[in-house]
Amino acid sequence: MHAITQSGWIEVITGSMFSGKTEELLRRLRRAEIAGQEISVFKPEVDDRYGETTVGSHAGRSWEASVVPSEGEGVWQIVDELNGEDVVAIDEANFFSTELVDVCERLAADGKRVVISGLDQTYRGEPFEPLPQLMALAEYVDKLQAICTICGEPATRNQRLIDGEPAHVDEPTVLVGAEESYEARCRNCHTLRRD
Ligand SMILES: [Zn+2]
Repeated sequence: MHAITQSGWIEVITGSMFSGKTEELLRRLRRAEIAGQEISVFKPEVDDRYGETTVGSHAGRSWEASVVPSEGEGVWQIVDELNGEDVVAIDEANFFSTELVDVCERLAADGKRVVISGLDQTYRGEPFEPLPQLMALAEYVDKLQAICTICGEPATRNQRLIDGEPAHVDEPTVLVGAEESYEARCRNCHTLRRD
C-alpha cells in the first residue's frame, strides 16, 4: 500500500462503529511486524482503565496497548513512552482531546508512521474531533462503512439507544456508565429524539 519514504506520515482509519476499524488496524500492525518494524500501541484512559490493555478482543492476534491520559498535556505521554519505534498506533482516538493532533504531527515529523483508528462522527452525526482534523492532516485516510441494522445499506452513522429508544440530541457525547447501546445506521435510518 505504501511507497518507501524517508519521512514519517499519518494514516487514519475511520468510520462508524462496527465498520471494522480495529480489524483493519490489526491487519496493518501484523504486516508491519512481518516487515520487522518496532510497534507501540496506545489507547486513551476512559472509565477506570489504566496501565496496560489490549487491542483486538476477538479471535486472533491482539496487541498490548499502553493506556495514556486523554486530556491536556497528558496526551504527550505517547511521545515520552516511545523508545525508537517505527510505527505508533493509536486506537479509539475519538476519546482524545485535540491535543492528539499536535502529538501526531510531532511523531510524523520525527519520522514515525502514525496509524490512527477512531470514530469520525458523534451519535448526533456531527464531526467528532480530533478525527476530522487528523483526517485533514493525514497522508492516507480510509473511511470504512458498516451495514445498517435497519435496511442493510452501507452505514456511516452511530445510532445511540438508551433503554432501547433513540437518544435525545442534547445528551452528553460520552456518557460513562449509562445503560445504552449502539447500532450502525445509514443516513436515512439514523434518528435523534428532539422533543
Ligand atoms: Zn438504513
